[in-house]
Amino acid sequence: MTRVTVAYGDGIGPEIMEATLQILKAAGAKIEIDKIDVGEKVYLAGNTSGIAPESWDIIRRNKVFLKAPITTPQGGGYKSLNVTTRKFLGLYANVRPCKSLFPFVSTKHPKMDVVVVRENEEDLYAGIEHQQTDEVIQCLKLISRPGCEKIVRYAFEYARQQGRKKVTCFTKDNIMKQTDGLFHRVFDEISKEYPDIENEHWIVDIGAAKLADTPEAFDVVVMPNLYGDVLSDVAAQIAGSVGLAGSANIGEECAMFEAIHGSAPRRAGQNLANPSGLLQGAIMMLNHIGQADVAEKVQNAWLKTIEDGIHTYDIYKEGVSTDKVGTKEFAQTVIKNLGKKPASLQPVEYAKNTSLVLPKYKRAKPAIKVLEGVDVFVHWAGTKPSELAERIKKVETNDIRLSMITNRGIKVWPDGFSETFCTDHWRCRFKAGPDTKMTKLAIIQLLTVADKLGIDTIKTENLYSFNGQQGYSMGQGQ
Ligand code: NAD
Repeated sequence: MTRVTVAYGDGIGPEIMEATLQILKAAGAKIEIDKIDVGEKVYLAGNTSGIAPESWDIIRRNKVFLKAPITTPQGGGYKSLNVTTRKFLGLYANVRPCKSLFPFVSTKHPKMDVVVVRENEEDLYAGIEHQQTDEVIQCLKLISRPGCEKIVRYAFEYARQQGRKKVTCFTKDNIMKQTDGLFHRVFDEISKEYPDIENEHWIVDIGAAKLADTPEAFDVVVMPNLYGDVLSDVAAQIAGSVGLAGSANIGEECAMFEAIHGSAPRRAGQNLANPSGLLQGAIMMLNHIGQADVAEKVQNAWLKTIEDGIHTYDIYKEGVSTDKVGTKEFAQTVIKNLGKKPASLQPVEYAKNTSLVLPKYKRAKPAIKVLEGVDVFVHWAGTKPSELAERIKKVETNDIRLSMITNRGIKVWPDGFSETFCTDHWRCRFKAGPDTKMTKLAIIQLLTVADKLGIDTIKTENLYSFNGQQGYSMGQGQ
């Protein structure tokens, strides 16, 4: 028996959870359930995180969490429980299989069978944002080596375990050479450990276009958080419906399983909702807890039900479907089909003991880190970069010199273009000469002088090299 934490959620949540649990029980799943309350009720009771502290204890003790969709009330400072759960529990891998069920569910892509593996904890989703000048707001994009290594390794291990042939990586490293560059570099490093699996990299824009147009060209696709968020919805939608897809959120210790859709409040309480998305999440959960035989039985019964045309309203189509049913009737039909296999759709055969939890990340030896300079960001409402340069050069000390000024990344001094539009947010790069050692104290002195001269410095970024490799980007046009 495995103890599983279950949250019934909001809107259609309770109905689809009830249907899912009935199917699991009838299939002989060896699970014991601890029910917790999350979502709207908890939010409106004044808890802005949507979950009570005691519920965290249960989730952390059981380590396996099956969650129905919840409603996040608009405004009022309510935090998304989904994002909090992923980050609190370190659920770094979001795995979303998107397979078409043609001709039983209509899709333009009958041969599609893609698994999107999305990094789940970092990237722009760190949510660190600051307004720095009248005109400019910044959001920090954080990409870490452990984050990249864990997700890329997960994608390859998943591909190997599932007998898949290829892992594709999407990044935008032609522009973000440091952050996306690291993701791509780690992908290249780790792919070498999996010679049995094909690997390729696409720039995300053309990769996304190809995925939307010819999804059968892809197998497993791994990507940073933001691209994964967008493209996993695209993949689920073009496979047939977002209502049919489930997802797994996997960490080193805990895992959470869910449908990808929301709580569809307008459909709630009417026995209308399709429980398939949550059921798909539950099937991934059964595989995760080593009950692959039960997972297989449920999935084949579900495929048979879809194939027989027993459809809820969202996928019902005249001429293809045979019966339009409600949530409960759909679940009853899946239960009746337990032990049967689909005739046209490919039945599944899961490897036994398919739990896939990777070893804990081991931190690498620290690199030799050398401070080479500093970018000082300045709030200045002028328009002529040469004027700013003249003022800023007064800050120069000893051999620490102004080497360039950029505006929104593009170099505007020296040798800028008069056509370049400039905001009030300027980056002034100072670098130490070859015979000068750059120090933190030198930066502080630089800022002190700037302050005395009335220059509005808003932040600094230190420029480092790591093991001799430059750890910062050049100015565009530099
Ligand atoms: P939604 O996914 O709830 O609904 C979008 C559309 O899809 C609706 O028209 C609905 O009728 C249909 N639909 C969704 N699931 C269905 C199902 N199982 N069967 C049949 N039809 C289904 O998205 P939304 O309307 O943007 O969001 C509603 C609420 O859900 C919001 O409060 C949002 O914050 C929340 N939400 C929660 C999660 C989650 O808990 N994981 C995810 C997304 C959205």
